[in-house]
Amino acid sequence: MNEILEFRHAVPDGVLAAGLLRDEEENARRQTLESYEILDSVPEKSYNDIARLAAYICGAPVALISFFEGDRQWVKARYSAGAYAEKMLELPRPGALEGQMHLPGQVLQVPDITTDKRFAGYAPVQSGPKLRFFAAVPLYAPAGAMLGSLAVMDRRARQLSPEQCMALETLAGQVMELLEMRRTLVGLSKANARLGQQNVTDALTGIPNRRAYDQKLVEEVARAKRTGAPLSLLLVDVDNFKQYNDNFGHPAGDSALQSLARALMSSLRPYDFLARYGGEEFVIILPSTDLSDAIVVAERVRGLVAASEFPHRKFTISIGVSRLDPEAGARALVQAADNGLYRAKASGRNKVLMGKLNEASPAGSATP
Ligand code: GH3
Ligand code: MG
Ligand code: MG
Repeated sequence: MNEILEFRHAVPDGVLAAGLLRDEEENARRQTLESYEILDSVPEKSYNDIARLAAYICGAPVALISFFEGDRQWVKARYSAGAYAEKMLELPRPGALEGQMHLPGQVLQVPDITTDKRFAGYAPVQSGPKLRFFAAVPLYAPAGAMLGSLAVMDRRARQLSPEQCMALETLAGQVMELLEMRRTLVGLSKANARLGQQNVTDALTGIPNRRAYDQKLVEEVARAKRTGAPLSLLLVDVDNFKQYNDNFGHPAGDSALQSLARALMSSLRPYDFLARYGGEEFVIILPSTDLSDAIVVAERVRGLVAASEFPHRKFTISIGVSRLDPEAGARALVQAADNGLYRAKASGRNKVLMGKLNEASPAGSATP
């Protein structure tokens, strides 16, 4: 019978007095345990199997793999058979014996808890026949922190044979192997999450990139179609940016784009979506926004940029605006905004113009 239990222990005074649970040891243990993300994890067969094997090899009715955190002994795997199956068990915390666990990986044996002075006043709380024999191998992380133990218990006062000791030590080594594998997996999944984030972020400006925008547009168009809410789009293009680069150099152009991204971001509502569309072009998705409101937003953004100071000199932006026609879909929404942007450029720049799908499509469109 395996189940996950949690025990809370009062640490005996003697242990504290002996300074066996010093703060720094406790911190090292906590940090190491966190790196494995083992505490409060779900039951896992591989740990249960080790507990079962430990009990079998040692001929003991109870085996536990547990980890210590503060005054908590958290049991990752428990095997308890016969009279102890499904019984309440609160075992002596081997942490109370940390002082005796000098040798990483080696078995500590207490042939009879009831007569051992280290356990004086520290009887296990349990139902079922009284447990007397206790043996544990401390689980040491490679960096040295003592994390917990693999322990077996029996109702008889007894000792393990040298072979059983060796087998228990080997199994404790297996628990540490499992933990190390777990740490590798935790690291990999974090690295994966970071990579996923990088995949959708523009390296220069830190805002969502074209890929993120493509995904977002599909989602928002689907939502607008489903709910019937309006959806508008702004295509933003910096005016005469080539000149800016030519005059002040590409690095200056880069930092101008970074400033612009920040300015655009600050002018939007939390549920609006800004992305770098490519080069000196940006796109803004405005959910639940009708054309007239989208034009107001676009004018506000254009005015803000025109009034902003950028390194070296000011510059302006042109914006094409469109509203989703649910019949026509996403591609038409973008094409219409592109048409508006083209006319804004053609008619003098620093402008906001609404675009329609059926405008004569400009040769050499404003967008890439
Ligand atoms: P228009 O008003 O018609 O948009 O003129 P423009 O000069 O902005 O347009 P054009 O398409 O001729 O030039 C865009 C410029 O944007 C050229 C390119 O070097 C610059 N650019 C695009 N991406 C970046 C970037 O990441 N960094 C820098 N510094 N410049 C960029
Ligand atoms: Mg452009
Ligand atoms: Mg431009």
